[in-house]
Amino acid sequence: MGKEILLGKTLDELTEVVKGLGLPKFTAKQISDWLYKKDVNEIDEMTNLSLKARTALKEKFELGTTASTKVEASVDGTKKYLYPTNHPNKFIETAFIPDRDRNTLCVSSQVGCKMGCLFCMTGKQGFQGQLSSGKIINQIRSLPERESLTNIVYMGMGEPLDNVPEVMKSLEIITSEYGMAMSPRRITVSTIGIIPGMIEFLNHSECHLAISLHTPFDEERKKLMPVQNVYPIKDVLKIVKDFDFGRQRRVSFEYIMFKGINDTANHVKELCRILDGIKCRINLIRFHPVPDTPLDGSDEQTIEFFKDQLNKKGITTTIRRSRGLDIFAACGLLSTKELVKRQNEDF
Ligand code: SF4
Repeated sequence: MGKEILLGKTLDELTEVVKGLGLPKFTAKQISDWLYKKDVNEIDEMTNLSLKARTALKEKFELGTTASTKVEASVDGTKKYLYPTNHPNKFIETAFIPDRDRNTLCVSSQVGCKMGCLFCMTGKQGFQGQLSSGKIINQIRSLPERESLTNIVYMGMGEPLDNVPEVMKSLEIITSEYGMAMSPRRITVSTIGIIPGMIEFLNHSECHLAISLHTPFDEERKKLMPVQNVYPIKDVLKIVKDFDFGRQRRVSFEYIMFKGINDTANHVKELCRILDGIKCRINLIRFHPVPDTPLDGSDEQTIEFFKDQLNKKGITTTIRRSRGLDIFAACGLLSTKELVKRQNEDF
């Protein structure tokens, strides 16, 4: 039987581990320091642990750190790291996006995705499995640029709030004093609106929330995002309206601009209506076509006009800069490319 992984365990879980091994309680804190504050890759490198403690640990546990197997760098400084998973030929992607005084890491939370959004390459891969908290933390920990990291967004492959237990554990580790001690104000979790997960996240975390909206009209949203059939956006917005975000916590809406579909004056009007009463920001995102979708991106003029109209109506709206286009930076494109390559090699 394989050894259990230490990376991704919370302090409480590490306390159980050391208790089970008959080691003093303070050893748990020492281990969490090595796991989350220092860059050790072997249990033997935990030099302030007694030899007895290290030997006992090594018998049943391993660190669980994994290096990326591939990195692609864009001319604009964006880097995409590819990690192997437990599923043959399936990979997850992590994107490092430097931008003036901000260095953002976009992490994945699942291998593939169940949600089947019409515009998404990850959705087209189908769902292979959940990422453990350790596999999520590993994307941060193994990053060569880790020291310069300022922000983390859960916007990579998968729907984070369809993997609530592991995502919440990873958030605890990233934001706790015993862990990576990063401010929750520097972390954003994005969701298409999985209501039970959203409630859990809102009540048990301090991180920002981003909701993928993409159209204010129900029938259109059903075509773009099947989740609308289960968790209608009006129910999602009701929860947001009723929740007290306080002064520092933010909610934002992601809006991919599809030509002739969701980019009209009617959409501006309806957006203003459904978002009335919510203090928020809208991020407009250019769509760069992915294979096998009937969708096209709106043109620049339309996107600018859409932004101006929303701003005029009092909704702070920005256009997200496209990054890493030359390295397939849209979620799921690089891993799909690698999957196809491996499959071709298999034949
Ligand atoms: Fe899944 Fe997000 Fe892609 Fe939708 S957009 S299929 S939720 S990864």
